[in-house]
Amino acid sequence: MIARPIRNRPMLKRFFAAFLLAAVLPAAAADRPAKELFGAAEAPAPLAARSIGTYARGCLAGAALLPVNGPAWQVMRLSRNRNWGNPVLVDFLERLAAKAPSVGWNGLLVGDMSQPRGGPMSSGHASHQIGLDADIWLTPMPKREFSYDEREKVSAVSMLARDTLSVDPAKFSDKQFGILRLAARQPEVERIFVNRAIKKALCERATGDRSWLAKVRPWWGHDYHFHVRIACPRNSPTCKPQAEPPSGDGCGAELQSWYAPPPKPTKPSKPKPPPPEITLKDLPPECAQVLVAK
Ligand SMILES: [Zn+2]
Repeated sequence: MIARPIRNRPMLKRFFAAFLLAAVLPAAAADRPAKELFGAAEAPAPLAARSIGTYARGCLAGAALLPVNGPAWQVMRLSRNRNWGNPVLVDFLERLAAKAPSVGWNGLLVGDMSQPRGGPMSSGHASHQIGLDADIWLTPMPKREFSYDEREKVSAVSMLARDTLSVDPAKFSDKQFGILRLAARQPEVERIFVNRAIKKALCERATGDRSWLAKVRPWWGHDYHFHVRIACPRNSPTCKPQAEPPSGDGCGAELQSWYAPPPKPTKPSKPKPPPPEITLKDLPPECAQVLVAK
């Protein structure tokens, strides 16, 4: 029998991670919420670039920074220091931005990507942990450069009509349609999350090839930005891919299900206790190494 390579032995990895935790991190760190540990990291882990774990439970080594300005993008909310990603994501965003003007979209206003070492975020977002997710505003980039202050304070605009069932046609135009379709057609893109009303608007407007609609998934919120998720890249052997989205455009029963009235509670429901905080032990063992790497 051929011995399996060491990197495939989770026991050994776990042992190594436990050793590393005990040796390098203060004893209490392993039990602290991982969002505090990763939220405190100001610079990326100087290791080979790779996304580790799942989109909602993992971390990021060797992150690259998306520059705050590019020919067709500007990064918003700079104080958050969340314009980090797998170099493959940074490269993807730069290429998407370059193509945006071809669909009448002046450029991308980029919101949260990942923290310098990924991991759970100190606020907001369950995912965005492995440097493969990016939020892009549904407001096009202005012709001028925003100041630092404007990037903190300018409000994003909701695309929804007052009843939240549909988009407001004065806000959601062919331009938003164009940038969403362009993004969904990129081969690296795994999923795009938008509000149900935006998915409905895309379903109503799409003509010709509708296959790209499969990747555009309804989700809560996401009415002032869309969330692009790219697939696990080749540089990341321990990135865990998601199941492919269901085939079909998702404009029938699936979209309808987002408009179904919530089921009536049969008995008075007790408020659910909040889910336990994610700690380092809940993340892939490699993430301990990512956290302490100098
Ligand atoms: Zn997002």
